[in-house]
Amino acid sequence: MGIKLAGRVDRIKPSLTLAITAKAKAMKAEGIDVCSFSAGEPDFDTPTHVKAAAQRALDEGKTKYGPAAGEPTLRAALARKLERDNGLTYAPENIIVTNGGKHSLFELIQVLIEPGDEVIIPSPYWLSYPEMVALAGGKSVFVPTSAETGYKIVPEQLHAAITPNTKLFVLNSPSNPTGAVYAPDEIRALAAEVLKHNILVVSDEIYEKILYDNAKHFSIAAVSPELQARTIISNGFAKSHAMTGWRVGYIAAPVEIVKAMATVQGHSTSNVCTFAQFGAIAALESSQDCVSEMLNAFAVRRRAILKHLDAIPPLGCPRPDGAFYVFVDISHTGYTSLDFCKELLEKHRVAAIPGSAFGNDSCIRLSYATDLASVEEGMMRLAKFVEKITGA
Ligand SMILES: *Cc1c(COP(=O)(O)O)cnc(C)c1O
Repeated sequence: MGIKLAGRVDRIKPSLTLAITAKAKAMKAEGIDVCSFSAGEPDFDTPTHVKAAAQRALDEGKTKYGPAAGEPTLRAALARKLERDNGLTYAPENIIVTNGGKHSLFELIQVLIEPGDEVIIPSPYWLSYPEMVALAGGKSVFVPTSAETGYKIVPEQLHAAITPNTKLFVLNSPSNPTGAVYAPDEIRALAAEVLKHNILVVSDEIYEKILYDNAKHFSIAAVSPELQARTIISNGFAKSHAMTGWRVGYIAAPVEIVKAMATVQGHSTSNVCTFAQFGAIAALESSQDCVSEMLNAFAVRRRAILKHLDAIPPLGCPRPDGAFYVFVDISHTGYTSLDFCKELLEKHRVAAIPGSAFGNDSCIRLSYATDLASVEEGMMRLAKFVEKITGA
């Protein structure tokens, strides 16, 4: 007997990143020495003091239901974080704690987007954005970018993409998959279009702490109070504090959005795991040395991976200023990104994510959230593979 699923399920696809990561893990479990550049998460363990705070919370019986929008102390600590790090004033009522940054965005799309609404998404993009929009019945409008502009859109492109149906513009800086970071002036120029056309912008700032050289994070909400009133900030602890499995994220937004999200949350997930929220408070309120230690390790690997890439001329890649990814142009090899990644994994034991997952079939994404030895070995294997298929 065939089961008839709801039509909305047909509109979305399973995550390709998760599928390739699973295949690489399975090969490793069989004893195959895979070098994995596929992970979208820090390879570090959660800092000890964060774990200790959650353990303490467990011992103190923080094991019950809490308020749907989050522990009041965490919302207050997040308001202080936004003031301290981003120069933004938010009341705790403007903040909702969610089950990770992914859930923040999912819930936001649920409360904002209806059939007919258009969402502008610069491409390449984080693969979950269009799926979330599709599930809500909205329409994704992709704005393509290329290596020439460092995979960043320019205001003219945003202007051209806006229609009377545009509801929301998705900005992700630093970016997954490209590592691109928008400079403050570039953000201001995009902000002018947002204001002119009276649309909303969601700023996915999950990689705000992972920046190299002189790159600075500048939230579009900080452009002006008018912009802050049109901005939804999405962030979380997964990438900054190596807390991917904890599932703690948050949104800072105008209060009517937060209230609507809290209602949806109240009928779906309820509060985020109570003792995990106490870990998040410790992550915010204690020394941030752990964040800079992880950043220093990422910086060393980034230099190593870029040095190797420079020595493989058929591959191209602008220098990414943030996150822990490089987005590498493979178009000179003549392969599709999926075929390239398949052969690279099966024959050379290197896992990478095809760019097609992010809306760009000319590229692959390499994550350097892996130890330096694997970076060195994996890049050597990649160089051999490229040499074999291009003769260069
Ligand atoms: C990892 C990631 C998120 C959110 O991750 P969570 O684990 O759900 O907090 C959001 N946006 C981008 C671009 C990401 O890479």
